[in-house]
Amino acid sequence: MADPLIHALACPNCYLADRVQKVSAIVRAGKWHGDLSGTTLGPEGEENVALQSENISELARLLAPPEKPKQAIPSWFIRIARYAAIVAIALVAGLVLVQLAVEWLFSTSQPPQTKLLLWQIASVATIYCLLFFGARAWRNARIRTYKQAMKKWKNSYYCYRCDSIFILKPPDATAPGDFAEWLYA
Ligand SMILES: [Zn+2]
Repeated sequence: MADPLIHALACPNCYLADRVQKVSAIVRAGKWHGDLSGTTLGPEGEENVALQSENISELARLLAPPEKPKQAIPSWFIRIARYAAIVAIALVAGLVLVQLAVEWLFSTSQPPQTKLLLWQIASVATIYCLLFFGARAWRNARIRTYKQAMKKWKNSYYCYRCDSIFILKPPDATAPGDFAEWLYA
């Protein structure tokens, strides 16, 4: 009972480690052959652990790892937007050049036409940049949260004895039903 190895992985609920298994191992077992059996070190020495396949697959479903965040903007849209931006820049640059050439040839002061055009270009460019960097920042933030949740998932243990999930550092525990939310807490 006083074995330091048992203590190191002890469940915070029952203070025993004999029915504790890594969450990732349960999910792997549930995914591959829907069966889990093996031996664990119990208070009375080695014990056999065997679970029925429907139990383990249901448990594995509840203990599934966090889902990787999807792209903020679909890749096909980025491709089209990039192409459209190049075409737009080329068209606008051509128009500005023509306009400036005409004005340079026929007048001495800068007429409002060019100012308006330049103002429009600057506005579109600003909106474009804001959307692009905003979407990127949003996705980066989501990936950071996902990585934290994934780290927690990898360090999670399940206790078959009292049906609870826990991590050791920092000590925290939850029930399988709240596991998905708990990963992001
Ligand atoms: Zn326990």
